Amino acid sequence: MEQTIGVLKRRNIFGVTSGPAPLLERWKQAGRERIIPALWFGFMLQTVPTPAEVRQWFTERRYAVFSEVAIQYDGISPSDTMFEPYLAVVEEMDVPVGIHIGLGPPGALYLPGMGNYRARLHSPLVLEEALARHRKLRVYLMHAGWPMLDDLLAVLYAHPQVHVDVGIISYLLPRAAFHRYLQRIVEAGFARRVMFGSDQMNWPAAIERAIQAIEAAPFLTTEQKRDILFNNAARFLRLSQKQITAMSGKKDE
Ligand SMILES: [Zn+2]
Repeated sequence: MEQTIGVLKRRNIFGVTSGPAPLLERWKQAGRERIIPALWFGFMLQTVPTPAEVRQWFTERRYAVFSEVAIQYDGISPSDTMFEPYLAVVEEMDVPVGIHIGLGPPGALYLPGMGNYRARLHSPLVLEEALARHRKLRVYLMHAGWPMLDDLLAVLYAHPQVHVDVGIISYLLPRAAFHRYLQRIVEAGFARRVMFGSDQMNWPAAIERAIQAIEAAPFLTTEQKRDILFNNAARFLRLSQKQITAMSGKKDE
């Protein structure tokens, strides 16, 4: 945690952060305003919050974002009726939601506790019925639906509100594979809907490796890099100019 927060300070990062509540609390105390608290969700959790609890926690502003929604590990699509009441809450409350659609650990299905994982749920098309029912949803696809590029481009084209993040794929994939994927998204005209993500879990060095993957992309303009690293998320999260100025000028003691 100390090493990660060191990176956040050195690179002036503010990170949407989620995990078990007591752990998130420790991170908030250590990282203060650099930690943007998010509600982690899956049906595999020991205690699954009810839609009413989710509503209450967002009313209390305990969390700023509903993510990571990790129901792909339950084998459940975000368009499934089980998830429907949660979507209704976050749409009505205008809460940003980040859903894991894409890769987990290699061979996830064969790992302990991940037997319900299914590769077909990598496709961003699994979100489409949910989008049709909840047209005001502020949603981003974590891991950008990798490697289902054509499905992703179809969803980005057909649903202009959808954003993606590049968590995991930005540091775990071979650099050429990540760049090719990102380049196709950018070439199709969607550079303003890509948000930086690391999805750093245990390895503090992963964050700067992920930043470097953006900075080193030869097909991105300086402006596109800045959009991916900051501006797109600032717009998606609807940060105020005051918040943006405070973040930009932040100096840690
Ligand atoms: Zn994920």
